[in-house]
Amino acid sequence: MLESQELKPQNPYEEAVNQLKAAVNFLGLEEYIFEVLKQPERVIQVGIKVKMDNGKVATYLGWRSQHNSALGPYKGGIRFSLNVSVEEVIALSMWMTWKNALAELPYGGGKGGVKVDPSKLSQGELEKLSRNYFRAISEFVGVDKDIPAPDVYTNSQTMAWFFDEYSNKLGYPSFGVVTGKPKVLGGLDIRTISTGLGVAITSKEVASVLLNGIEGKTIAVQGYGNVGYYAAKFLSEMGAKVVAVSDSLGGIYNERGLNPDEVEKTKKERGSVINYSEAKKISNDELLELKVDLLLPCAIEGVINKENARRIKAKVIVEGANGPVTTEADKILWNNGIVVVPDILANSGGVIASHIEWVNNRVGEWLSEEEAQERLKLKIVNSTRKVVDFWKKSNVDMRLAAYSLAVKRVVEAMKIRGWI
Ligand code: NAD
Repeated sequence: MLESQELKPQNPYEEAVNQLKAAVNFLGLEEYIFEVLKQPERVIQVGIKVKMDNGKVATYLGWRSQHNSALGPYKGGIRFSLNVSVEEVIALSMWMTWKNALAELPYGGGKGGVKVDPSKLSQGELEKLSRNYFRAISEFVGVDKDIPAPDVYTNSQTMAWFFDEYSNKLGYPSFGVVTGKPKVLGGLDIRTISTGLGVAITSKEVASVLLNGIEGKTIAVQGYGNVGYYAAKFLSEMGAKVVAVSDSLGGIYNERGLNPDEVEKTKKERGSVINYSEAKKISNDELLELKVDLLLPCAIEGVINKENARRIKAKVIVEGANGPVTTEADKILWNNGIVVVPDILANSGGVIASHIEWVNNRVGEWLSEEEAQERLKLKIVNSTRKVVDFWKKSNVDMRLAAYSLAVKRVVEAMKIRGWI
């Protein structure tokens, strides 16, 4: 769970539209296709009433944006955060369309959010908010309609409430309506490690093409949460040297390499990675500017921007977080020969694991964790190779290459369905 305020690009929707425009131009598609894809198919806004512990009724605003369903039912997380806005939810739903298309999952893109500071709510109030939000959007979600999942400040418990509320409405259990559920309700343990594992596998694949392999390569990870910790752990197991990590309180550096599990233990027991004794303390800005082979921003949006992009010395940046590199920074990095592996590829492990959970739920079979992990690995390796191969031929940055592949797939589905 993110602990600090998120930095945001000025307007995430504008950013998403600009990225779409670049892909549409690169593919030579007609203007009307851009106009179609720019708009979400549906945005639901709900006012959610919650009877608080003090007896008063509070109202929260919530949204679900359903961007595109050409390839299948909408899929994407739901976040609870004070930073949520309708523009952000629409942008995130568009990014999910591309992420799902790139991974060749049978899903369109969706995203939801409730404008609330969940840390101010009791567990009981949070449950009521979750149930009331889901009930309010229930007519628009479903196993074959729209399948939400956890995102910032929501988790498997939230999904259990969503699942229960929806099943109560139907009158029977509908396991596949949400993913990221607790194991006892058909969830998979690999969901926890999936995004970080995916970031590690993508890093390894890209390193094998650009850096002559991952073994011995130096890594800096900004944001030592779910994504950052597992990315560091798996990269370390692959033979890379994690020299620096950070969280919202600051960073640590040891040129001989850090032990990811020991650092995680320190963070759990003493609140932050900065309390790890066998390393030098550094700031988050210093971490981003380290001379390392791979830099993994795994915390928040917009951390690599026009202010610091010229000072980045990493050879490759792998976006574990959503949107950590701004469009302006992208251009500077590209001119400086720094390769950015885009979020829609690098952090797709989470939604790929969600798909495995959804398939499991639908066929009523519980795949073993090992089998699920093998499927996840294979899918990420294939996705990465596909993007890297296309990128090498295309002479544009890897983000544009990945977006173009994704947009092309969605447009093909829209054409063949007769939508355009
Ligand atoms: P998390 O809350 O588990 O971890 C975030 C970490 O970032 C924490 O250690 C926090 O201290 C740190 N952090 C916050 N602000 C920071 C700052 N200014 N500087 C340095 N560190 C800072 O969150 P997460 O689930 O790991 O998600 C991280 C990012 O990855 C988000 O952008 C999220 O949208 C994206 N993402 C997550 C998943 C997933 O499955 N968890 C999937 C796809 C994308």
